[in-house]
Amino acid sequence: MNEFDLIEKYFNWKNLNSNDLGIGDDCALVSIDAHQQIATSVDTLIEGVHFPKGTSASDIAHKALAVNLSDLAAMGATPKYFTLALTLPEFDESWLLDFSSTLRVLANQYQITLVGGDTTKGALSITLNVTGTISQGRALLRSAAQAGDHIFVSNSIGDAALAWRQIQQKLTPSDQLLQHFNTPNPQVELGCALVGVANACIDISDGLEQDLGHILKRSNVGARIDLSQIPLNKEVQSYIQKTQDWCVALAGGDDYELCFSVAPENLEKLKAIEKNLKIKLSEIGVITQNKGIERVDDFDKKCQSYQHF
Ligand code: ADP
Ligand code: MG
Repeated sequence: MNEFDLIEKYFNWKNLNSNDLGIGDDCALVSIDAHQQIATSVDTLIEGVHFPKGTSASDIAHKALAVNLSDLAAMGATPKYFTLALTLPEFDESWLLDFSSTLRVLANQYQITLVGGDTTKGALSITLNVTGTISQGRALLRSAAQAGDHIFVSNSIGDAALAWRQIQQKLTPSDQLLQHFNTPNPQVELGCALVGVANACIDISDGLEQDLGHILKRSNVGARIDLSQIPLNKEVQSYIQKTQDWCVALAGGDDYELCFSVAPENLEKLKAIEKNLKIKLSEIGVITQNKGIERVDDFDKKCQSYQHF
């Protein structure tokens, strides 16, 4: 099978509107409505960096799309299209079948369409470029936090980081932790619902403090966070109780939950979102005028968040 047959067989899903153009020409052509902005983002996953060697093709596909959708979620954008740059060490039909079928299922679930890509040979790496739309001027920006805003986090954090710690220690994480690590759920619905309700928003990919830190820096504000209010699942809670290693929650990456700030007058609206989407939203602190992050607790260790360089 040559490269073109491979693309045709595994990636040409032919599900575009009739006036748009997907795989098969030099560029894809897509239409967007007037008064909308395009939100676009790219993320690469490299074997040994973003997922351990031996991760299944299906989990890689899930993670690759999920982490990219998470960026759209963090802006409040609605997913529309994506492209896929795939570098493979060899031609492996069963790998491609697993990869492309999971990618397709998840793409359908989030109503995002694959419109093109690139296929090359080399060390395994997957790059996705996602595109979404958002009404003009409505995106949730990192720069929009205001002193007095309440800070929230969706669901629980630290799960993926604890799984990763255990993998590195040659322990076997529970299925629940592994699921958070391998197949994170991007908070697309929540992100869209937060438009007009939240001020600033970010997805937690590198760790809560570092990612919240990006909001603070861009918004020129600070934060006070209460460690006892950080939402933790049972396993993470008991791990922290045993080890006092708060860094798993403060600096552990890969959760892909949303961290966002909400003005006091919008808290009622936020409650309605929580109820409608049946999602857990925890208030962990407030935005302050003083720069930096102040922790309410006696845990004063500096945590090392993930950095590539
Ligand atoms: P070009 O040389 O013009 O870049 P390619 O031969 O790389 O074209 O790709 C042919 C077509 O197949 C293009 O429409 C491209 O977007 C699409 N394509 C290539 N690889 C992939 C892939 N992994 N997934 C989806 N579409 C792909
Ligand atoms: Mg090409």
